[in-house]
Amino acid sequence: MPRRKNIKMQKPKIKEVKEKNASILFSRLKGMKDILFDEYKYWDLVIKKATELARAYGFRRIETPVLENTKLYERSTGKGSDIVTKEMYTFIDKNGEKISLRPEATPSLVRAYIEHGMFNLPQPVKMFWLGPIFRHDKPQAGRYRQATQFDLEIFGEEAPVADVLLILLAYNFFCELQVNVQIQINSIGCEECRKEYLVKLLEFYKERGRRSKLCGDCKKRIVKNPLRLLDCKEEKCLEAREEAPQIVDYLCDSCREHFIKVLEYLDELDINYNLNPYLVRGLDYYNRTVFEIWAIEEEGGAQGKLALGGGGRYDGLVKYMGGRPTPACGFAVGIERTITKIREKNIPLKSEEGDLIFLAQLGEQARRKAFAIFEELRRAGFKVRQAFTKDSLKVQLEEANRIGAKFSLILGQKEVMDGTILFRDMDSGIQEIVNQKRIKEDIEKKLNLNKGK
Ligand SMILES: [Zn+2]
Ligand SMILES: [Zn+2]
Repeated sequence: MPRRKNIKMQKPKIKEVKEKNASILFSRLKGMKDILFDEYKYWDLVIKKATELARAYGFRRIETPVLENTKLYERSTGKGSDIVTKEMYTFIDKNGEKISLRPEATPSLVRAYIEHGMFNLPQPVKMFWLGPIFRHDKPQAGRYRQATQFDLEIFGEEAPVADVLLILLAYNFFCELQVNVQIQINSIGCEECRKEYLVKLLEFYKERGRRSKLCGDCKKRIVKNPLRLLDCKEEKCLEAREEAPQIVDYLCDSCREHFIKVLEYLDELDINYNLNPYLVRGLDYYNRTVFEIWAIEEEGGAQGKLALGGGGRYDGLVKYMGGRPTPACGFAVGIERTITKIREKNIPLKSEEGDLIFLAQLGEQARRKAFAIFEELRRAGFKVRQAFTKDSLKVQLEEANRIGAKFSLILGQKEVMDGTILFRDMDSGIQEIVNQKRIKEDIEKKLNLNKGK
């Protein structure tokens, strides 16, 4: 490859860490998060649930690179969107190419659908995706600059049933994790019917000096993206939007019919939803159905407005990105926020591990022998645990208790000589001597007896 010359590299302002002495302490970047041991059981639970549900509804897993060409997001997410203008991690790589850490999943999935010719597959193509996204926004409670999303997309299906499948899956995801949610839903129509609505909306804001009362951002939005006036959270903008015309009243026949069918299904399925005329979602590519999943605060009502996820239909995007005309819809759920909600409720998690057996040893010779027994049991499929770094039997049995082991096997000097092992029931404390050759059969028998209890 010829070397590229004359590429103007951006000179980033690098904050120098003053190294007065060699032993500076590093800490994680602002807005970034470590996941420590105790939190991981929640991750395991949520990711298992996500994967299980996605497969049950016929979605297949896909992964895309964390880095993409910046233009992909400028074109799909939208040059004027907050994500692209304010929040992306963008830099020039060593070849002079402008690349970004992905701020959302959909653009990559649309790219992959087109690039791999997935329109040749039987339609619809249903995919799910789990991974980190990056947004350099203001860190606040429950929001991180690296966040994990569970994302589902359906390509090649225009019918309302596709929208419903996504909403149902999202709803079940939270219900089955015992998080109370309400679906917020709206239709923002198609290009055609939205035009008429936007004229009415602008007329409304120009009436009686409403425009001058808007926040600074909204004064810009009114020119660039007036639909977003509706979802501004500023108090004065909330006041101004009261009595604003609602887009559902301006839907064309086919958009209205589509939306009504979605709602009929939701009624039929007994899904808790709220028709929210102000819900528009921030991105340019949405049309027709848009929805969000809000946590219901304990006092009742979804007033907390903590969106745990959201999505919608984007029928024009695949074509706009250079593919064939392909109707599509999708949604994403924030895993960190979901876990925060689960933890707030203090629901005790059942161990998914099943019956654990702990192998304890006493003395150097016994430890050596215990290694061999441990490997034999583990390979035979038993859930066996150990603390070979510990010498004290008391400490080892405490560990067995801590992890909730059903039985402990104890191997000492005497047992090594005899070819036996002690079998200790951790609940009753009753111990018996067992022949080492019969360990597996005896464990099997005891576990089965235990199940019968
Ligand atoms: Zn329409
Ligand atoms: Zn505003």
